[in-house]
Amino acid sequence: MYEQSLDGAVALVTGASSGIGAATARRLAREGAAVALAARRRDRLERVASDIVKLGGEAVVSEADLTEPGRADDLVQDTLDRYGRLDILVNNAGIMLLNSALHTTVEEWDRMISLNVAALLHVTHAAVPHLIYAASTSPRQVADLVNVGSTAGRVARPDSSVYGLTKSGLRSFSESLRQELIGERVRVSVVEPGTVDTELVDHVSDTTRDAARREVAGIEALRPEDIADAISYIVTRERRVAVNELLVRAADQTW
Ligand code: NDP
Repeated sequence: MYEQSLDGAVALVTGASSGIGAATARRLAREGAAVALAARRRDRLERVASDIVKLGGEAVVSEADLTEPGRADDLVQDTLDRYGRLDILVNNAGIMLLNSALHTTVEEWDRMISLNVAALLHVTHAAVPHLIYAASTSPRQVADLVNVGSTAGRVARPDSSVYGLTKSGLRSFSESLRQELIGERVRVSVVEPGTVDTELVDHVSDTTRDAARREVAGIEALRPEDIADAISYIVTRERRVAVNELLVRAADQTW
């Protein structure tokens, strides 16, 4: 038996209104976890939660713009108020505003830093004491923190300088945290997706979006469920196993 059920565990997934986060929330619920879903679009979160509940799962929705001051703390507290514990945190919310340094604005750079970096740090800081507590009290005897990085955190490419910076920074932050939390039985992992078919490129300008789509034309993109599968694999390992990093590219992807 190499897999643990998530029955009785509570998971918080940021960016759960679409794409990888929504698929991950559904998957963790299927594995038995009660899931707290956070993002800005309440209607989309409610749709995911309602699907989970229809399948016999447990889910709660927190409408949250994580770039707002104090919102990360509130979100973790909301989850504790609702379920009394936190066993798994998936830091997934992120934006990718592709552009060159010449044509972008510093406002675009700031938006990526404030969600992909600052919000991730704030949610993590609020969650760590509760993950430590869960690890010492749960039947699983372990808690999990999964950060969603990107191939862009490993391979630098034009037009993704600051997006890549946020994702490579995520790797070193995660590795440091992993070492800090080993004695607390909190596993820290990074999942690095390649090209996944989601709404991620919808937020960039038409020209950049067209360029991004041209780049991946001919590649069969991953599905959000493929990354949810990787995350589920990590968090359902037995206590002695720590999968620290998973790089999951689309099979045809060269970079
Ligand atoms: P989506 O755009 O589908 O999902 C992004 C999620 O982040 C949404 O749920 C969105 O919800 C949420 N979000 C955006 N801004 C905020 C905010 N201010 N506060 C709270 N939540 C916010 O894209 P993906 O599923 O692809 O992206 C998920 C993660 O995967 C990101 O970190 C991305 O960098 C990473 N990734 C994606 C790849 C891909 O090819 N798709 C490749 C590599 C990594 P809402 O708008 O409702 O707030």
